Amino acid sequence: MPSSLLVYSPSTSSVFPSPQLLRVRLQLPFGVALFFRWCRLRSGEEEDDGCCLSLLLQVRVRRPAPVFGLPSVYVSSRSLPPLSSVRVCVFGVFVVPLEKMKIISPIIMGVNNILSDASPPNSFINLDQGDTALLESYWRKMKEECAVVIKGCELLSYVSDRSNVCWFMMPELTDAIKKLHALVGNAETDDRHIVVGNGSTQLFQASLFALSSSSSSHSPNPINVVAASPYYSGYPDETDLVRSSLYKWSGDAKEYDKNEAYIEIVTSPNNPDGSIRTPVASNRRGVEGKLIHDLAYYWPQYTPITHKADQDLMLFTFSKCTGHSGSRIGWAIVKDIDMAKKMTTFVVLNSIGVSKESQTRAAKIMEVVCNSYENFKLGSKNSELFFEYSKCLIKERWGKLREVIKQSDYFILPNFPKAYCNFTNESSETYPAFAWLMHKKDEDGVGYLEKKLKVLARSGNRFGSGPRCARINMLSRDEDFDEFLRRLSNIKEIGY
Ligand code: PMP
Repeated sequence: MPSSLLVYSPSTSSVFPSPQLLRVRLQLPFGVALFFRWCRLRSGEEEDDGCCLSLLLQVRVRRPAPVFGLPSVYVSSRSLPPLSSVRVCVFGVFVVPLEKMKIISPIIMGVNNILSDASPPNSFINLDQGDTALLESYWRKMKEECAVVIKGCELLSYVSDRSNVCWFMMPELTDAIKKLHALVGNAETDDRHIVVGNGSTQLFQASLFALSSSSSSHSPNPINVVAASPYYSGYPDETDLVRSSLYKWSGDAKEYDKNEAYIEIVTSPNNPDGSIRTPVASNRRGVEGKLIHDLAYYWPQYTPITHKADQDLMLFTFSKCTGHSGSRIGWAIVKDIDMAKKMTTFVVLNSIGVSKESQTRAAKIMEVVCNSYENFKLGSKNSELFFEYSKCLIKERWGKLREVIKQSDYFILPNFPKAYCNFTNESSETYPAFAWLMHKKDEDGVGYLEKKLKVLARSGNRFGSGPRCARINMLSRDEDFDEFLRRLSNIKEIGY
């Protein structure tokens, strides 16, 4: 491959959004368009699926470089692996006269995009779901430390610890959760009961069951469940799925005006809009309802840790804390023992506990996070620390998105106040896991993204607010996020 070309590392002021941008700059009196493919060489256990991944490098032509007024050719990759593991083959070189460069540039881009494996312009980019692929790069670095081996003769029993209210919860997971909260300082766990669940999704339903069947809720009617809009789109569906006679979904907490008992879900930072929240509902007699605090995103990579949360019923999830949503581990921190017992009953009758393989893995990963802080030496790199590393990635994405949105005639983003983070010891903004894009012209935000940009987002309708807003996953794969930004910033150029 073109070893004679000058290759240099990315600058943050790049016209491209990719952090892995590679620029190849040729100072020639004419433009050169190179088309070439590279293949990641996968070997043995390192990359064990045994197939070759091929991506086409993007070729872009920029205005003449200031140096001697000569043209520059920039080559960028959407996700470039280390050069040592890559085979590159050039399959087309075109020399273009200087004056034709502007004309040929969009053609090169178009052809390149069609040939690209990553997210060609005719394919949809799915930014609807909340997957956390962005965090994968950290866990790839830590793959050995986090490995767990479980032998065939182990973990056969349903039971983990008969002395615990939540008897299917493994003591090592309880310890790891307590240690992690103590490290981060985001929740009180002393003298609290911890209940593990199949994701916090199961524990949310367990909370509804426990709160609505407690002795203080005598109502013959289902208790109202509310959350301030925009609220997490899972709540209404999960509440009403089995049409329980104990509870029912009753919509926006800000508009709640019934003279009846209610449960309010307080999600902070909030999904989808990243806002920091406190309860808002009260019934007509001014009587407060029961509260579920969903603190899925109260971790330092997303938001400053301003206090140790100490509410009666708090939900956390491994899915958002470290990004391991596939393990399906969530936990509730509960003050009242009867509540903890009822929630345990719910999980038992629903799934007779929680996979011990998953519990073992979650405990291991949390332990690795805690150990890396304990063993961190002065002078080491912050990139070895999970929360610092992931915050850096998410913050970088927010910076890029805000740059593109600043130039946009179509969308705006919410702003977040700064606060002092007791964990990182610095003042910081919130960098939510989702971006809540609002269409400037009161149009259907999701429809616009889908039809014009072929980007799938989740509509504001699903969150109890209008169709003008759309939720975008900020933790998607690099390729998808970069391609999303490219399409968003090229709206005018490609004639939308
Ligand atoms: N609460 C909130 C606010 C969420 O965003 C999510 C996941 N999107 C959940 C709960 C459910 O998480 P889990 O994967 O633990 O079921």
